[in-house]
Amino acid sequence: MPISFEPAANTTKAQDFYHRLAEEQMRPISRKYDVHEHEMPWEFVRFMWDRSKSTPPARLDGPDDGFVKVCVQAEELCWGDAGLYLRIPSPALGGSAVGAAGTNEQKLRFMGPFNGEGEPKWGAMAITEPGAGSDAAAITTTATADGDEWVLNGTKIFCTAGDAASTYPGGFVVVWATVDKSAGRGGIKSFVVPAGTPGMKLVGCEKKLGIRASDTATLILENCRVPKENLLGSAEVKKADPTKTGDKGFKGAMATFDASRPIVAAMAVGVGRAALDFVKEELTRQGVTVRYDAPRHELTAIERDVIDMEAELQAARLLTWRSAKMLNHGKRNNLEASMAKAKAGLAVTKITQKAVELLGPLGYSQKTLVEKWMRDAKINDIYEGTQQINQLIVARRILDYSSSLLR
Ligand SMILES: Cc1cc2nc3c(=O)[nH]c(=O)nc-3n(C[C@H](O)[C@H](O)[C@H](O)COP(=O)(O)OP(=O)(O)OC[C@H]3O[C@@H](n4cnc5c(N)ncnc54)[C@H](O)[C@@H]3O)c2cc1C
Repeated sequence: MPISFEPAANTTKAQDFYHRLAEEQMRPISRKYDVHEHEMPWEFVRFMWDRSKSTPPARLDGPDDGFVKVCVQAEELCWGDAGLYLRIPSPALGGSAVGAAGTNEQKLRFMGPFNGEGEPKWGAMAITEPGAGSDAAAITTTATADGDEWVLNGTKIFCTAGDAASTYPGGFVVVWATVDKSAGRGGIKSFVVPAGTPGMKLVGCEKKLGIRASDTATLILENCRVPKENLLGSAEVKKADPTKTGDKGFKGAMATFDASRPIVAAMAVGVGRAALDFVKEELTRQGVTVRYDAPRHELTAIERDVIDMEAELQAARLLTWRSAKMLNHGKRNNLEASMAKAKAGLAVTKITQKAVELLGPLGYSQKTLVEKWMRDAKINDIYEGTQQINQLIVARRILDYSSSLLR
């Protein structure tokens, strides 16, 4: 399928808008909420919630540029501040899960309230457990049918926006649980647990290296009851076939990543670009010009470094847009989403470390945000599948090996 890498004109217009927003609303408070880790940035939150009145959620499918626009928006806003981006009231990863596995009725029911009316709301997705992260199939949280309800029991850790999504009315947490442990992956389903549901308890929030403006929660589910119709996708359990690449039961839940990995890749690109822009501005200020058109053997070490940073960033961005565009066209993008995520996670880690290195004490000092971007960058190589796991997925898809054959 021929894919143009240029975003549509209305996407470029949106890019300018989000860039201004990042510059004016996020950068000025970036350091404050890095230092005050668990404080809610209410002014920013209310501003963004109010904005969502006039911005209908972008469509993830269809002939337009909808999903590329989501990625462009993520890049711009994470250029502003990646932690604050994760604080924006929205269905977030919970929305990706509902979008990937939910019916139209469920999409309307759970995402409808995210319209800028009333009080701000958040969504979250809780997969990770003390004994299951990379190996999502190992989750032990259970969902047991009881009359018209599912009863959930288990512990979820490292849940982004889990505090806000489980606390403020109208929000929800998508919880992964098994309905039948003997069915392996085939028994894993996702359930929408509305904020305030009895039995869903917030235990606390992590103190972190980076993206400190975002909340990362531990949640306990203790006889937590949700209506039967809060199960996303089919309740049917299909026994996993270890010789096949993927199986129906697990597939719906895993499809969430096809939408969420391009967004995380775009977020990474945003942080990397923040650091690179700063380096270039500083070099210009010091009278250093980067000669993009000079032969490589004539370049200074600094010029080579900057050009390599640009190349890394652009490669990550193009892979990201490709995976997003494929989703727009209804194409399976599982391989491309993992490629984009693996490339972007590594690229941004390298770019931000190089920025600190090139700027020396200025990069290391808290007088600028460069050291913060280095801390904010690393998470992109960890959540939504680590670097190693995304490389594993790429290898499996290229070689057509199942997860049991290549692990
Ligand atoms: C700030 C933050 C926010 C998060 N937000 C969310 C969220 O919103 N929802 C959610 O569900 N989870 C979230 N997570 C959890 C995150 O997705 C997991 O931490 C991540 O998937 C890694 O899983 P793990 O913690 O079990 O690490 P492990 O799987 O124990 O990984 C440890 C190391 O081993 C490597 N490794 C593991 N298996 C293999 C393999 N087969 N081959 C090669 N190397 C391997 C990993 O790459 C990693 O380097 C978040 C984590 C953090 C830190």
